[in-house]
Amino acid sequence: TKYGDVSVATLHQLASRHFPLCMSHLMAALHSERHLRHGGRQQLGLFLKAIGLPLEEALIFWRSEFAPRTPADQFDKQYAYNIRHNYGREGKRTDYTAHNCTTIVGFSGGPGDHHGCPYRRLDEPSLRAALGRLRCDDRKIEEAVSKARDGHYQLACAAAFEGMHRVPEMDVGISAPLQYYAGRLPRGGE
Ligand code: SF4
Repeated sequence: TKYGDVSVATLHQLASRHFPLCMSHLMAALHSERHLRHGGRQQLGLFLKAIGLPLEEALIFWRSEFAPRTPADQFDKQYAYNIRHNYGREGKRTDYTAHNCTTIVGFSGGPGDHHGCPYRRLDEPSLRAALGRLRCDDRKIEEAVSKARDGHYQLACAAAFEGMHRVPEMDVGISAPLQYYAGRLPRGGE
């Protein structure tokens, strides 16, 4: 694909360095809870597809992350259809695209949900902790928290990008998770 191919083997490392918080947060929740509810599966699944995770790899990834809570045969019955559907292999065969920030920021969810934009949904201590785990520069963490407090979620995300990639200020908000991810390419990528 446009961004190169992504495989299960490289996904977690990629997530910790190059995914925006809305996606790395879902990756972490999925990994610890061995489950994600529908909204999270859609938000993360369509993004993983967009960055170049092939369907077969996606099935392996979700099946292994859902184990052992969901055994493989149950996974294949209950969840595989939806993943194939997102890749346009079932139903109307629509090639679904990943959500942009406006859509994600607008998502509401209950206590068991992890989708949506973390700059809107996480409380300040959780946001600080999450950015700290991603080794974001301390000053930029505070900038992101303050922008999020003022309701400027996409500017908060840009501040976090700057703090993680040690780049100068961009003066513009992030518009889509894919844009955040692709932002690594001009600097040589890896
Ligand atoms: Fe994700 Fe956009 Fe929120 Fe950043 S601003 S965390 S890319 S939804």
